[in-house]
Amino acid sequence: MDKKSKLEEIKDKALADDKLPLRTKETNLVFGVGNPEAEILFIGEGPGYWENVKSEPFVGPAGRLLDKLLELINIKRQEVFITNVVMHRPPNNRDPLPQEIEAYRPYLDAIIEIISPKIIVTLGRFSMAKFLPNAVISKVHGNPSLVKWGDDEITVVPMYHPAAALRSNEIMVKLREDFLKLPAILASLDKAKEKEEKEEEKQMALF
Ligand code: URA
Repeated sequence: MDKKSKLEEIKDKALADDKLPLRTKETNLVFGVGNPEAEILFIGEGPGYWENVKSEPFVGPAGRLLDKLLELINIKRQEVFITNVVMHRPPNNRDPLPQEIEAYRPYLDAIIEIISPKIIVTLGRFSMAKFLPNAVISKVHGNPSLVKWGDDEITVVPMYHPAAALRSNEIMVKLREDFLKLPAILASLDKAKEKEEKEEEKQMALF
C-alpha cells in the first residue's frame, strides 16, 4: 500500500473512533493535510475555530503566517505535511490536557511512521514536549535535535508557535530566523545520508 492509502486508512480509523475525548457534535476531525511523501512534517497543538470549520489544520490567522513562513523559504504548503497533537478542537481553544494528547497519540505516531519525514518541526510547546520533554523553547528553538524514535532516529527542530509570533514581535523575528535555517538543515541531512551511502558502497566493494 502506498503512503497516501495508508494515511487514508488511519484517517478512517480516527473518523470511526468514538472514544476520542474531544470528539463532540460540534467538532470535526482535523487529521492532517499535505504531501504523503513530505520531507518536512509540521506538528502544531490543536485545531482552532477555522480549522474545525474546514477540517484542515492551520487555516486561520496562525495558518496564514505559517504559509508566509513557508513562502519565505520557497516551500509550498502542498509539499509538506501538517498535523497537530490533538485532532479535534479543544473547547474555547483551551490547552490540550495530557490525557487528550495521549488519546490522539496512536494516530499522530502512525502519521510519523507512514510519512517518515527527514525533519519534524514542532510548533509550540505541546508538540515539542512529545520529543523533547525537558526542553525550554526559548533555549532550543531553531536547533535540530536527533531524537530516538523506535529503532530509528529522527531530526526534530522545535519552533515557536505561529500564534505566539502573532502576539509578540520578538517571537516573530525568532520564528522567521528559525524558518530561514530549515533549508540548510535539510541540505546537511542529505549530505550526511550521501556520505553514509558512499561508506556502505566502499564496504561492499571490500567484500
Ligand atoms: N494552531 C494549531 O496549533 N494548530 C492548528 O491547526 C491551528 C492553530
